[in-house]
This record gives sequence, C-alpha cells and structure tokens, in this order.
Amino acid sequence: MDFGLTEEQIMIRNLMEDFAKNEILPKVRDDDRNERFPGDILDKMAQLGFLGAPLPEEYGGMGIDHIAYVVMIEELARVSFALRSIVSVHISLFQQTLNRWGTEEQKQKYLPRTTKGEILGCFATTEPNVGSDIASTETSAVLDGGKWRLNGNKTWISNGGVAGVALIFAQTDKAKKHRGLAAFLVEKDTPGFSSRDIHGKLGLRAANTAELTLEDCLVPEENLLGQVGEGFKIAMSAFDNARLCVAAGCVGLAQACIDASVLYAQTRQQFGKPIGSYQLVQEMIANMIVETEAARFLTYRAAYLKNKGAPSTVEISMAKYYASEVALRAANNAVQIHGGYGYSDEYPVERYYRDAKVATLLEGTSEMHKLIIGRNATGISAFTS
Ligand SMILES: Cc1cc2nc3c(=O)[nH]c(=O)nc-3n(C[C@H](O)[C@H](O)[C@H](O)COP(=O)(O)OP(=O)(O)OC[C@H]3O[C@@H](n4cnc5c(N)ncnc54)[C@H](O)[C@@H]3O)c2cc1C
Repeated sequence: MDFGLTEEQIMIRNLMEDFAKNEILPKVRDDDRNERFPGDILDKMAQLGFLGAPLPEEYGGMGIDHIAYVVMIEELARVSFALRSIVSVHISLFQQTLNRWGTEEQKQKYLPRTTKGEILGCFATTEPNVGSDIASTETSAVLDGGKWRLNGNKTWISNGGVAGVALIFAQTDKAKKHRGLAAFLVEKDTPGFSSRDIHGKLGLRAANTAELTLEDCLVPEENLLGQVGEGFKIAMSAFDNARLCVAAGCVGLAQACIDASVLYAQTRQQFGKPIGSYQLVQEMIANMIVETEAARFLTYRAAYLKNKGAPSTVEISMAKYYASEVALRAANNAVQIHGGYGYSDEYPVERYYRDAKVATLLEGTSEMHKLIIGRNATGISAFTS
C-alpha cells in the first residue's frame, strides 16, 4: 500500500483546506451557537465542485477517487464536523447510492441537480422503533394502482428538513424481513410527505436533523431504486460509503483537537512555564497524535481497498469504529488541556467534544461495528439470516 498522495489528491486537499479556512471558519462558531444551517456555504461548495466530487463527470462530478474524497472530508471536518455531516449524507448516502443502484433515467433526473447544489439529498432508514436493526423497518410500501403507497415515520434524518429528495427505506412484505425491504426516491413536495426539524441536539447544531412523516404518500413506480427486496443490500452499500466518510471526518476532527491543544499548550503559562512543558500534558498530546495517525492509516487503507475494488466492508468498520472513538478521546483530552477555557465556546474544543460523540452513534454504533468485526473473525453471527 502506497499512501503517498497523488497530485490530484493533494490538490483537492489543499482546495478544501483553503476553502474551510476562508469561508467556513469565520462562521462556524456562530452557526453552531444559532443552529444556523449553512446554506450559503453549501452554495459556494457546489460552485467549486465539492458537492459531487466523487461522482462521474457526466453527472457534474469531478470523478475523484476514494482517497482524494477521504482527504477532502478530513480537511472539511477539521473546521466543521456539522458541514461534514451535511456533505457526507448528501454525497455518500444519497448520491453514491443513487449512482450505484439507479437507472440512467433516475441518475439523469437527480444527480446533476444535486451536484449543482440545487437540491440536497437525504437518506432514511431510522424510525422511532428501528435503529440498529433495520430489517425490522415498519414503514410500509404497497403497490397500489401503478404507484407505491408509503406510510410510516422516520426519525433522526440528517438534511431531512432541507432536502429536495429523500431516499426512503420501506417494507414491502413484513414476513420477508430484510428481504422485503425496498428503497424509494421521494421528492419533498410529494403529497403526504412532511418533515419536522429536531432541535436541542448535543452537537452538529448547524446541521439539519428531522423527523419525516409519510402518510399515504404516493410515489411513482419509476422511483423505486433497484428491485423490490434489494433495499437491505442498497442500505448496506450506502453504509460502506458513509462509514468511510465518517472515519475520514473523525480523523479531521481529531487532528483539529491536536492543532488546538498544541497551540494552547505552547502559549498557556502556569507555574511560570508553558503547560506544554509538563509531561502529563505532553502525554495527552502524544496519545492524541499516535491514535490519530493510526486512525488515519486505517481510513486510508479502507479507501485504498475501495479504489482497487477489493472487499472493504470489515476494513471500513474498523476505520469507522476506531476513528470515532479516537476523535471522542482526542476531544476529551483537548478540553482537559484547555482547562476551564475549554468549557466555553471562546475556544473550539467544546464544540469538538459535543460533535465527536455522534460519530460513535450514527452509521452503526460502536457496538454494531464490533459485532461486524467479531463476526468476520469468528464466522459466527448472533443474527439469523
Ligand atoms: C445527529 C444524528 C443524525 C442521524 N442521521 C441519520 C440519517 O441521516 N439517516 C438515518 O437513517 N439515521 C440517522 N441517524 C440515526 C442513527 O443511524 C441511529 O441513531 C443509529 O443507527 C442507532 O440507532 P438507535 O439510535 O435507534 O439506537 P439502538 O439501535 O436502539 O441502540 C441503542 C443502544 O443499544 C446498542 N445495541 C443495539 N443492538 C445491539 C446488539 N445487537 N448488540 C449490542 N448492542 C446493541 C447500541 O449499540 C446502542 O448503544 C442519525 C442519528 C443522529 C444522532
């Protein structure tokens, strides 16, 4: 494995680094404080091609490879984990899934508009009673006079209140469990489709999260993504992409914790010396650096395997699980190093701490990833197929 970045990968990383510094950083604290959705920043990102970067050029993308995408997301998350989440759902869960499973007509209809930023995408598996176990999806889809009639509730849907189109997972035949699932492209103006924003989140406050309601929502037959019964496979392929993106974001977030901690440790004086001269502080920084590098290499390895078209689901799970736990530990250390100042939004580390937690929950909780890794090692699963 060669992780020496190509010219293209360096270019996209530098482009995002400059953009994040100049356009996102000046607003990031206030957007978080005010729960302001950064639509203006997304418009600028669309103009620069970021909003569909890994998609083929024919759909308005830049066709960048998985490592380039990872380094782009790393730089974005270094400044805003909320924007990372918006972009990750839009690209990795929505666009890449549509690009992999959609018909040419479906792709032409939605992808160019999403790369231009005219509409955002969202992705909905989670329901009030359905989290980790998506085979138990309760939202129903019944074919009725040439249209699919969808009924049910989704919750915790990122971009749910602002997306122009949602990828909704629904059950077509309860008895078939995961083999009955199907995925549907549902436009926000479809009668019977509505959303309600969720407020008061611990972190990701600038990102939109919503509940979705589908009440006799009639969806044209041509909006079925893939085949009936392929919903579970579609969701799993989407999670592979999104989990890699979360891992990359966590590496960026952990790096931001290091950057802030080093700077503070160099400048904050106690007992007549910079706190960075004390070995207990150095130990925290050393742990953050080593763990972040390890998370980075797990993430790049997974992206490298994806670039080669090799199986990568377990490697992505390892990267996502480890990087999310590392980001959380790094954020905790960063607040510790900042002392009392770390507890206020005068410094960014309190936001890092709040934002980091979500990464151990979404795109598969840490426990679910340990199950995937353990099942791969033992060949034994607690779940029936
Ligand atoms: C900010 C945010 C944004 C989100 N965005 C989206 C989105 O865009 N689209 C979407 O569909 N969902 C989204 N989610 C939902 C997220 O994917 C779920 O929260 C996640 O899948 C976990 O489901 P749950 O919350 O229902 O927890 P549960 O599945 O109920 O789990 C609760 C606890 O039990 C543990 N647990 C469950 N089963 C097992 C088991 N078999 N073995 C051991 N432990 C187990 C879990 O690890 C966890 O600790 C988002 C969530 C948040 C917080």
